[in-house]
Parts: sequence; C-alpha cells; structure tokens
Amino acid sequence: MKVPEIMKQRMAFSFEVFPPKTDKGMQTLTGEGGVLDKLYTLKPDYISCTYGAGGSNVGLNVEVLKSIKKSGVSIPITHFTCVGNTKAGIKEQLETYLSNGIDHILALRGDLPFGWKGTGGDLHYATELVKFIRDSFGDKFTIGVAGSPEGHIQCRSIEADIAFLKQKQDNGADFIMTQLCWDMDQFRWWIDAIRAAGITMPVDVGIMPVLDARATINMALSRNGCVMPRALSELISKYWTFPDPFTADAEPKDAKSDAEYAQKKSDFREAGIEYTIKLIDEYRVAGIDGIHLYALNKYDDVARIVKESGIWDL
Ligand code: FAD
Repeated sequence: MKVPEIMKQRMAFSFEVFPPKTDKGMQTLTGEGGVLDKLYTLKPDYISCTYGAGGSNVGLNVEVLKSIKKSGVSIPITHFTCVGNTKAGIKEQLETYLSNGIDHILALRGDLPFGWKGTGGDLHYATELVKFIRDSFGDKFTIGVAGSPEGHIQCRSIEADIAFLKQKQDNGADFIMTQLCWDMDQFRWWIDAIRAAGITMPVDVGIMPVLDARATINMALSRNGCVMPRALSELISKYWTFPDPFTADAEPKDAKSDAEYAQKKSDFREAGIEYTIKLIDEYRVAGIDGIHLYALNKYDDVARIVKESGIWDL
C-alpha cells in the first residue's frame, strides 16, 4: 500500500534515519540485530532516509533504503534535493531508486550549503522538482513534500509559503511531511490555513524527540527559526549544563562534576521524553494524518516514546 492510502485509513507512524558516515555506523544501523532491525519490531509504516547536500552521501542513502526495502516490514522513503543536481543527474538517481524498488520520495529543495545563494543545480525549488518527477516518471513515484507550519525561514511571508505548498500539490505531490514545530497554536492555525487554501494532502507531522539540549537548540535555531514555547525553554534552563551545552562536554574536570554533568543530561532526557509524549498527544487531536519521529539512528529512547505515547497501537 502507498503511504497516502495508509493515511486515508488511519493515522500513520514512521521513523526517519540518516546515512551514517562510517562503516561502523553503517553496521550499527543496518547490520544484523542493528538499529533498523530493532525499529522494525515497532512495525512503522515507513522509514525515511535523509539525503545530504549535493548528493554527498547518495551511495550510503541508497544502501540504507535497500536494507529497509529488503526487510519487507516498512516502506522505504528517500529524501531527495535539488542541491547540486542537474536534470540528467536527477533522472539517473531516480532510476536507481526505482530499480531497487524504492518508489516513495520526499521532494525537497534542500538545505543550501554554507555560502551558497541557490541550489547550484538545474532546479531551484521543490515545486519544480515535483513537476520534473511527474513529467519524467508519471505515477511511478509517490511524492511527499515539506510543509513549514511556522513558515520556511526564507519565505517572504507565510501566505507565500502556503501558496507554494498548494503549487506542490497542483504539480502532483501526494502528501506533506512537516518541519518540526513546537508551537501548537501556530500549528493549529497553519492546518486551518492550508485547508482553506485548498490543500487536501494528508499531513504527516515531523517530531524530533527532545533528548539533548544541544541538539534541540541546534535544530531549532541553526536553520529553522522555530519558536520554543515557554515550557521547553524552562526545561532547557532547568537542566542547563554550565557554561553552556555546546562546550560542556569538555568542561567537567573531576569525578564529582563529571557525575553532576551526566546526571543533568540524564534528567534532561527524562523530562524531554515526557515533553515529547505530551506534544504527540496534542498533535494527535489537531487533525493530522501521521506521526513521523526523527529516530536519530537510535532505538531505546525512541522506542520508549513510541510505546508510552500509544502511537505503537496506531
Ligand atoms: P521549497 O518548498 O522549495 O521552499 C524554499 C523557499 O523558497 C521557501 O521560503 C518558499 O517559500 C520559497 N519558494 C518555494 N517555491 C518558490 C517559488 N516557486 N518561487 C519563489 N519562492 C519559492 N534537507 C536536506 O538537505 N536533506 C534532507 O534529507 C532533508 N530532509 C528534510 C525532511 C523534512 C521532513 C523537512 C521538513 C525538511 C528536510 N530538509 C532536508 C530541509 C529542507 O531541504 C530545507 O528546509 C530547505 O531549506 C527547503 O526545502 P523545501 O523543500 O521546503 O523548499
């Protein structure tokens, strides 16, 4: 079954992983008894794999997706971007996906590498990529697209952003995967706004588990400009590792401070898991069609969130 069809019947649940940079990381993810094998036990509807800027990790991305396909448990979805890709290069890569049975794609513009002004490729926006895939491959691919409930960081207005999202639908996209958003009032506004704009695609919500203060701040602010609600800011403040979470790894100087540091990180993780579960509850009543958890190539904490939130039973 295709992902949008699953979402028509019930709420979907899925994971996102990334291609590891090392052989050891690859073995940990895709090897026997590895992270993917453990994630399959949770029976996610699909597992998506990210795609690096300029196709820098394309070989490893395909390897991860082939391994998911081979499992027969979950649908593999590849992320794909315009960055550094010519039309001929895109066709070639998409043919490779199809020949490996990977027929679901998240069509993105891509994060621009530092210092770049544009994609450096033949296509400039996700709208163009969606059209190109449909023109070149007909219905062979099921196409997901990104949606930004707070507006993409570079959009001239949220209305323009929503208009481009509608254009992605008109060009042939099938479903939306959202950028992370902790601001639930904004999210509810956005859902109403996209429906009013005639966007009928199912909405799969991207959730990054709050497990680490540094990663949370980094994800919110390095590229996305996400609002952090008071409750999340308080959580980060309460378990702050001095002088700051970005340099603290080097900071502990003796056994006592090492232990205090480890305790704070562990306490933050516990509170973050609770926060993430409550966020999932709020999303589930906000009229969405799927929960997409960034598994971050890990199992234990993600499995807890899946089980304790109840999305395992979806
Ligand atoms: P677009 O929809 O093209 O939008 C980009 C900007 O241009 C927006 O401000 C929009 O308002 C504006 N715009 C759109 N169309 C037009 C137009 N026709 N004319 C003028 N302006 C326009 N990045 C990666 O590199 N690899 C990944 O694997 C990856 N995975 C992701 C997964 C998810 C679920 C999400 C939400 C994002 C992911 N990203 C990934 C990040 C994504 O590539 C960035 O957010 C990127 O900056 C924008 O991608 P987009 O597809 O939303 O772009």
